[in-house]
Amino acid sequence: MSELMRCGLHAIGSRLRAGELSVADVVADSRRALHKAQPLNAVITEADETAIDAQAHIAQQAITEGRGGPLTGLPLIHKDIFSTRGLRTTCASRMLADYVPPFDATVVSRLAQAGMVTLGKANMDEFAMGSSNENSFFGPVRNPWDQQRVPGGSSGGSAALVAFGAVPVATGSDTGGSIRQPAALCGVTGIKPTYGRASRHGMIAFASSLDQAGVFGRYAADCALVLSAMCGHDPLDSTSDASGPVDYTAELEKPLTGLRVGIIPHWLENTETGIATAVEATREALEALGAQSLPVDLPNADLAVAAYYVLAPAEASSNLARFDGVRYGHRCAAPADLDDLYRRSRSEGFGEEVKRRILVGTWALSSGYYDAYYRRAQKVRRLIAGDFDRVFGQVDVLLAPVTPEVAFKLGEKADPVSLYQSDVFTIPASLAGLPGLSMPAGFSQGLPVGAQLIGPHFSEARLLNVAHQFQQHSDFHLRTPEAFT
Ligand code: GLN
Repeated sequence: MSELMRCGLHAIGSRLRAGELSVADVVADSRRALHKAQPLNAVITEADETAIDAQAHIAQQAITEGRGGPLTGLPLIHKDIFSTRGLRTTCASRMLADYVPPFDATVVSRLAQAGMVTLGKANMDEFAMGSSNENSFFGPVRNPWDQQRVPGGSSGGSAALVAFGAVPVATGSDTGGSIRQPAALCGVTGIKPTYGRASRHGMIAFASSLDQAGVFGRYAADCALVLSAMCGHDPLDSTSDASGPVDYTAELEKPLTGLRVGIIPHWLENTETGIATAVEATREALEALGAQSLPVDLPNADLAVAAYYVLAPAEASSNLARFDGVRYGHRCAAPADLDDLYRRSRSEGFGEEVKRRILVGTWALSSGYYDAYYRRAQKVRRLIAGDFDRVFGQVDVLLAPVTPEVAFKLGEKADPVSLYQSDVFTIPASLAGLPGLSMPAGFSQGLPVGAQLIGPHFSEARLLNVAHQFQQHSDFHLRTPEAFT
């Protein structure tokens, strides 16, 4: 790991602007740490050196001429779900193993415009389907706290690299928990904004009504900086919110006096003791900062996992129909006819979990089953959204566990349904399109524990404010995996 990368964007950025460090120094330091992180298998593709040098050069020039912004010259890794022009984008699938996009995702181009330097693409679960990062065509990612354990998924590579201290921040995407869950399991901060806040243009689609881009960092304040640059209306995404850019750093220092924090006792009873204890301690810490807490209930949230695992596969089965071996992506050798081309290209190109989702989703949408499964799941989704609406009449934010258990061992959850259960606390907010944040809140069995903050639509600034205040009075986010110190 790198001491420098652990300092975070704010600290590195001010040293760059003060001329104490050059962009080339910072980038070289991060690249060295990325190489040290190799045993984690967290990177799929490294950007090539000339491309990195060119970005670094432009950033240095901006700084030298006094035009440097808060992100200029700072390195990052993108989850390999974001299209990057001229840089291979695989979505961790054999289907796209050789795909080099001709364009940048909006999130990528916005961060590049802000002066950030892309060092490569992070490993993930294939097409973002998974909660352990074991579904990647490029092999599993390992948790830097214990290499026999999973980092969480699907954005496992991004979370592991930030936890390791190879990059100060990394992008991710969250459909049902893919930012919050790996952030918790790796001991870093991760935020998924409100659905529609960050553009989905160029982010390879999994379940379009749920997919949302977000960011990982050691510090909530760093996440606020990056989120401010990456969010905002994008005419290229019809579901992108129409309001203009927001400065998520503006409210970081706001005191928490009077903040009403909702606790869901039922969730705490259904999580490991070590996690429940950490969430309880977080509640006390927030109360010491002036917040008050009260118990609340989300009566329909227990149905969330079942509804999600109908809706997300249904949308995925439709989105993934585009990978047919014709226009781009994997194509089988010597097809006998068109049917054979489709069938073999898709059979060879997709992994087991992706195929399972396509089968389940197609089935749930088929005539005769649509009403029983898809429509019903949509109704459950509405009920869950209603639960949140009611609760946010009583409280400003919810404080909850992120996962029912700490990082589990690689291979431990061979049964897909037991893996799906790890999303029990993250999926409800996803179904309601709400913003969610995971912050380091303690340790259990020597492994990191996350606490989740969920707020009403467009309350990202509030969530980041609460996390930042908590981080002023805790040091869980500053700890580093021992094996790498
Ligand atoms: N674990 C969930 C799934 O497998 C969520 C993934 C995600 O948020 N991309 O679908």
